[in-house]
Amino acid sequence: MNEHDSERIAADLMASGMERIDDPELADVVVVNTCCIRENADNRLYGTLGHLKSVQERHPGMQIAVAGCLAQKDRETILDRAPYVNVVFGTHNVSRSVALLEEARERSEPVVEILESPVEPEDAFAPAAPVHVDHPYSAWVTIQVGCDNTCAYCIVPQVRGPERSRPFAELVSEVEALSRRGTFEVTLLGQNVNSYGRDLALALRSDPGLDATRLAGERFASSRRSVRPLFGDLLSAVGEVEGIRRIRFISPHPKDLRDETIVAMAETEAVCEQLHLPLQSGSNSVLRRMRRGYTAERYLERLEIARQSIPDLAVTTDIIVGFPGETDVEFERTLEVVAEAHYDSTFTFIYSSRPGTEAAKLIDDEIAPEVIAERYARLKAVVDRSALECHRDRIGRKEEIVVEGVARRDPSLQQGRTRQGKVVLFAPPTTPLEPGAIAQAQIVDAGSYHLRGEVVAPPAVPRPARRLIPVATD
Ligand code: SAM
Ligand code: SF4
Repeated sequence: MNEHDSERIAADLMASGMERIDDPELADVVVVNTCCIRENADNRLYGTLGHLKSVQERHPGMQIAVAGCLAQKDRETILDRAPYVNVVFGTHNVSRSVALLEEARERSEPVVEILESPVEPEDAFAPAAPVHVDHPYSAWVTIQVGCDNTCAYCIVPQVRGPERSRPFAELVSEVEALSRRGTFEVTLLGQNVNSYGRDLALALRSDPGLDATRLAGERFASSRRSVRPLFGDLLSAVGEVEGIRRIRFISPHPKDLRDETIVAMAETEAVCEQLHLPLQSGSNSVLRRMRRGYTAERYLERLEIARQSIPDLAVTTDIIVGFPGETDVEFERTLEVVAEAHYDSTFTFIYSSRPGTEAAKLIDDEIAPEVIAERYARLKAVVDRSALECHRDRIGRKEEIVVEGVARRDPSLQQGRTRQGKVVLFAPPTTPLEPGAIAQAQIVDAGSYHLRGEVVAPPAVPRPARRLIPVATD
């Protein structure tokens, strides 16, 4: 979500005539877009600002702006700690960067604008136009902002506000516009994508004057009595957009992973065989204290249904280690569930106390850092083993990859991504493949974090994924 906001800020600055450069030493404007989900982002912000201060001293007139959810949380404190910052703005006014920089320049003093809710409807979302993307073949599409859940550790509801879904018809039009400019892969973004549309359906029921076609799309405009559109409806509609051949989404919440979503994933050819389903903990008592709304058994049951319905589904997750009060027995249950879920990859986070959350009050139950470090290492051994097994199973297969460019860790290689979201490293042909090219790769080796492949077919010009429509022959 933050990366998408960064794209949008960059796009607005470029539309105002600026040019994007990589070296802050040469920049006239530096925007630091922040995230406050975990504490180390706080610490890194002030380190980064300290460095930018010395750049600004060498380059008088350079403007520094701080945006994002950490700005939303810290507000004026940023200027107390870093008075040389010129602009501070929050998550509800990402579209204001150009105007605020201009205002700070004219007034020759810092400007802080943190809103509790979006001023304009378009401020709630980050639509694709205008948008700067490094590679136009792939785009993020925000379908929903905010979160109505109350996970005890999480600061998102405080800094992103309540859940709001983007009107169905607008989303489909946006994807159509993206496709027209060459995008064939979209990642739908939301904090709990499964609950997409719930607020739209409720609004339509309570206010008959609302534009049902815009909010719910033509297909569901007349179904004011039923709770439509659902996330599954959106997946199907986006899958029907001409030219869209890969659809991904993050994140569904396990408590709301309904059959309709799984069916839509299975039936929509463009939806990739990839599911990021955050577990957080395998212990039911910890899940209860986290207020996650599911048990480990229910989670595994939903996962099994998804795997049975969607062949070759890659599954990834998020786990928090060291939630306050987590006992050895509770942690060991996480190890068991993680082993049983057999993940393709896992994002493991050390619990970080966030101000204003319910868990922040559990200060006496916080787990000692050395205990967390030991648990983290044990969990890593389990998730790395599981990932390696999943990846080794792919050796010998031929996979469709979309080329991303030069490999991040080894510039002598290129990298592409499979439908399952796996990175494939390969030696470039004489003329390296362009980002966005589609190629076939023979998988020859595997590690815990990537696959190694050999390109076996010339890159294809992306063609729209089409459904097979039965045709009557007599
Ligand atoms: N909405 C998604 C869900 O409910 O699964 C997660 C979104 S959250 C922005 C991304 C991940 O950050 C979470 O899945 C969780 O593992 C991690 N996270 C959130 N708050 C955290 C905290 N206080 N400490 C450590 N990790 C945290
Ligand atoms: Fe945070 Fe929970 Fe909402 Fe995810 S569902 S954003 S973890 S409150």
